[in-house]
Amino acid sequence: MDKAVDKIIKCDVVVIGAGVSGVCAAVTAARNGLKVLLVEKNNYLGGAANKCMHKAVCGLYANNQKGPCDVNDTLNKGISQELVHFLESKYNITETKRIGKVFVLPLPDNSLASFLTTLLDSQKNAISSLNTEIYAIDKKGNQLSSLKAKKSGESISIEFKIVIDCSGDSVVSRLAGIPFLTVDKEKQQLCGYIAKVVKIEGGDESLMIKVPYWADKFVALEGAPDFLKYTTYIQGDTLEEGYLKMNIPHSSRNLKEEYLTKIFQFITGHLQEMKNAQIEKTSEEVFARDSSGTAGEYVLTEEDVLGARKFDDGVIRGAWPIEQWLEEKGTCYKYVKENDYYEIPKRCLKSKTISNLISSGKCISASHEAVGSIRVMGTCMSLGEASGSLASEMIRR
Ligand SMILES: Cc1cc2nc3c(=O)[nH]c(=O)nc-3n(C[C@H](O)[C@H](O)[C@H](O)COP(=O)(O)OP(=O)(O)OC[C@H]3O[C@@H](n4cnc5c(N)ncnc54)[C@H](O)[C@@H]3O)c2cc1C
Repeated sequence: MDKAVDKIIKCDVVVIGAGVSGVCAAVTAARNGLKVLLVEKNNYLGGAANKCMHKAVCGLYANNQKGPCDVNDTLNKGISQELVHFLESKYNITETKRIGKVFVLPLPDNSLASFLTTLLDSQKNAISSLNTEIYAIDKKGNQLSSLKAKKSGESISIEFKIVIDCSGDSVVSRLAGIPFLTVDKEKQQLCGYIAKVVKIEGGDESLMIKVPYWADKFVALEGAPDFLKYTTYIQGDTLEEGYLKMNIPHSSRNLKEEYLTKIFQFITGHLQEMKNAQIEKTSEEVFARDSSGTAGEYVLTEEDVLGARKFDDGVIRGAWPIEQWLEEKGTCYKYVKENDYYEIPKRCLKSKTISNLISSGKCISASHEAVGSIRVMGTCMSLGEASGSLASEMIRR
């Protein structure tokens, strides 16, 4: 054993990142009889979806002007359906919610973490290692040969047959020095910083309009940066609580706390319903909507998404609009054809240079515009599932 290594772990599949895609990838590979190691640098499951305290699962349904949309009518079956049944049986979620032209599934507090934990706990073949960060990768020819990870000062070497990159940012390609798809600086979207607000009195759904109105006034009257006018509000599980979502550029990440304090003071000073409101917790980090993708055998494009393109090797369906959070305009949507969907081909999950690398979730091989649609939770969970099945198929072959 290499003297610099404290421990060696051997598995069939190593999944990097325990966001929604990583957990679904690990569980599916384990269901296929493979020995799986799921590695996550943070101390929680669910990645961005967990820390950003999402209240809705997007990407589960086709967009449909007419509605209503049945909770069970998901675009993809498998784990999407398991989530629907879990939320129905444990949290009594029996209806979808319409937001403009699209439908989402409401997500009560802590329900996502509970679902992901239940999924993982049901699979003895999948071992998760939290607080474990991948920091180096060895490559031999067109194969990845071993990974190095750190956990509480311990150095771990991981040996595997297949790697699934669910890091949300193509960590494997970066560390292995292979090509990946980057986002041009001028195309970078606003990032999200979220605060849970409690002790709201007499609030109702009109706060979703009133909060952005006062955010706009804050910018106009206090000379605050323009992007703060895109601050939104989402109601929580009760009328007494909700979520303030600030949208800020990468370059202003360090000022997140200062901005939050100022805008919160201004809004609570003007909105009667919020005069005694308090911030209970924040997302801690500023979360990027953009991601860099693994360079795959095919790059999914905006035309594929908007044209509802189908592929011979299509593995999952998507229908969420291309959603971009732009500094100059706020949110912009481009919709997939009504009642239709596009497919994501298996080639978007397969690396074009490395034979034992699969990518999944928001870092599959897709253009910046296409990622604006695929990056939502519903699509990422199904991508995770598809990547777990692909790993099993590749190993059997
Ligand atoms: C502000 C904001 C609001 C959003 N709102 C919604 C919404 O309301 N509904 C919705 O459906 N979607 C929403 N999304 C999109 C959605 O949350 C994410 O895009 C989706 O969850 C991505 O999942 P993922 O598993 O691909 O990646 P991630 O959630 O990014 O998970 C990647 C994981 O990899 C880990 N990792 C990275 N590097 C390493 C390493 N070297 N070693 C070990 N682990 C590593 C990370 O810690 C992380 O846990 C939102 C996103 C943002 C940013």
